[in-house]
Amino acid sequence: MSERLVILGAGESGVGAALLAKQQGYDVFVSDGGMIKEDYRSTLQLNNIDFEEGQHTTSKILNAAEVMKSPGIPEKNELVKSIRAKGIPIISEIEFAYRYKGNSKIIAITGSNGKTTTTAMTYHMCRAGGADCAMVGNIGYSFAKQVAEDPKQLYVAEISSFQLDDIKTFRPDVAVLTNITEDHLDRYDYKIENYIDSKFRLVMNQQPDDVFIYNLDDEVTVKTINNYPIKSTLAPFTMSKQLPQGAYLMNAKMHLKWKTEEMQMSIEDFAVKGKHNQYNSMAASLAATAVDIRKDKIREALQTFESLEHRMETVATIRSVEFINDSKATNVNSTWFALESMEKPVILILGGVDKGNDYSLIKELVKEKVKAIVCMGIDNRKIHEAFGDIVSLMVSTDNAKDAVQSAFHFASKGDVVLLSPACASFDLFKNYEDRGHQFKQAVKEL
Ligand code: ADP
Repeated sequence: MSERLVILGAGESGVGAALLAKQQGYDVFVSDGGMIKEDYRSTLQLNNIDFEEGQHTTSKILNAAEVMKSPGIPEKNELVKSIRAKGIPIISEIEFAYRYKGNSKIIAITGSNGKTTTTAMTYHMCRAGGADCAMVGNIGYSFAKQVAEDPKQLYVAEISSFQLDDIKTFRPDVAVLTNITEDHLDRYDYKIENYIDSKFRLVMNQQPDDVFIYNLDDEVTVKTINNYPIKSTLAPFTMSKQLPQGAYLMNAKMHLKWKTEEMQMSIEDFAVKGKHNQYNSMAASLAATAVDIRKDKIREALQTFESLEHRMETVATIRSVEFINDSKATNVNSTWFALESMEKPVILILGGVDKGNDYSLIKELVKEKVKAIVCMGIDNRKIHEAFGDIVSLMVSTDNAKDAVQSAFHFASKGDVVLLSPACASFDLFKNYEDRGHQFKQAVKEL
């Protein structure tokens, strides 16, 4: 009899894993406590995969040999507790997909900020270099679906810490940790140590011929890296000193040194701007080099990589006022980098659902660059308290249209209106994409 694999959650990773499991001959059952999206439901039906929605039938779940849990389901979920109590092994989707990837290579990218950008940039380089590759995780298919339906020689995977919590053997050839700042602490018993542990799981199975790329300027990473027995070959990146091996930025030039390879490139030639993108560019260049992409191809890719939607995306310039959509900035750290890269006076649209923000981190930058703040959220008190004494122009709004109109009203020729909210979006919007789209629509209507 075939082994029973129960999959909890029928989103991109759950359905991807179900397809792969079916293909590999498992007895698969998918259970989702909520309603399944139409296209995922029909995929399950078309492939004759047994599933349920709106409920979890424990008798059909606790008989599993193994359970694959979608990253959205927290450990404190009652069902998850019962599965643990019964001693049934729980794995994540990347662990499952990893078993069937054959001898293909993996570049795995994690971190608190910059994952998607670094993943897309690395993929862009690998493509430019002619590699047979796919981008998996947050953009594109889940890793499991890609392995099942269109296997490649190389996977560039964006990995969240939730995915890392339930890996066992997952071993990326190249691992990238962009940075570690407090985020999602609600899932880690509000202990940053647990969150850090989870990030470092990315490299726990790496061997000396695997590569670990990390940020030498990131305080948390540097402070904690020695707590972990890392066997990987290290490839750090930094803006603060020269390195014999790794990437560094000095005198407006990126220097890359890897084994016998050396490359230099002026940051003026990067297509994407901002300090955070210089970090992402260093990380991505090292990752591409580690899988033997040629340096002229890396250079070409850095010159042509366009920023992604909702991440410092230039929307339009209207009567000499530029509008930038950075809706993906859902924490203070991201907003810090957005402000840091601003060269013109800023009208900042800020607010939403605050995950315990410490606004003092951006106070200096706000003082230096921000002319006016337009709050866009249901509860804007904290923002008024934090900036009331340093920004004289401040107004509260509760929708994108009013926010954009108020911001435009405050702006003079040569200013920038920046949506970089430092908060989650679900008080007023479905998600950050919805917030970004509504912002762009409101700009178009001006
Ligand atoms: P993630 O996938 O980790 O959420 P994204 O690449 O989608 O990261 O970027 C999210 C936000 O963080 C964007 O607003 C972007 O401007 C900002 N950001 C991107 N890269 C970095 C970085 N290396 N450090 C800090 N902030 C970053």
